[in-house]
Amino acid sequence: MLTTIGFDADDTLWANEAYFRLTQERFVELLADYAPVPHLNERLLEAERRNLGHYGFGVKGFTLSMIETAIEVTEGRVPAAVISELLAAGRDMLEHPVNLLPHARATVETLSRSHRILLITKGDLLDQERKLAASGLGDLFHGVEIVSDKTPEVYTRIFARHGQGAGQSLMVGNSMKSDVLPILSAGGWGVHVPYGPIWALDHADPPEHHPRFHELPDLGGLPHLVLEIERGT
Ligand SMILES: [Mg+2]
Repeated sequence: MLTTIGFDADDTLWANEAYFRLTQERFVELLADYAPVPHLNERLLEAERRNLGHYGFGVKGFTLSMIETAIEVTEGRVPAAVISELLAAGRDMLEHPVNLLPHARATVETLSRSHRILLITKGDLLDQERKLAASGLGDLFHGVEIVSDKTPEVYTRIFARHGQGAGQSLMVGNSMKSDVLPILSAGGWGVHVPYGPIWALDHADPPEHHPRFHELPDLGGLPHLVLEIERGT
């Protein structure tokens, strides 16, 4: 029996990574005079990787990494006007509209009637709260967990607090690395719903023949999959 179902937010309930891609295109445009495009993208990714442990996941860390990279590739000569544009691009991301993905609302509504459902997301606290409020789904969740990282330990702790533990819980999301593999390690069910481009630092291979791993093309099939899991079929 499943007591608790956790939903990832970004690129599971609503589009997100696409806004990062658009902003990165703007970053490349602004610095194109100083370095070739592939080099700019590489250096930015290096900065993001380096800074993850300091700033965590989200728009603020991404903006700081863009600025840091701009300083590096221009050897300190980046004009203040460009820095200002990068800050504006980051702020724009914090205001982007929230567009629900197919079946998100219906699936959350359906499962909220039969299970304890949680939103489990990493990212900037204010930004994630803003998006949840704008999504109109906030009242349907029994709990919201905005965490600094998604590890087996984090899932173990969250699902122990909201139900009968990870062993009777399911996590659904677009990221194999953050939403699926760690919940499988914690003993729960992991459902992968791929969507759009995946961030280079959030990539992982699927597990091989794991009995609690499932993949769905979209959220529409989740209520049925939950029934099947509970029937043991
Ligand atoms: Mg996601």
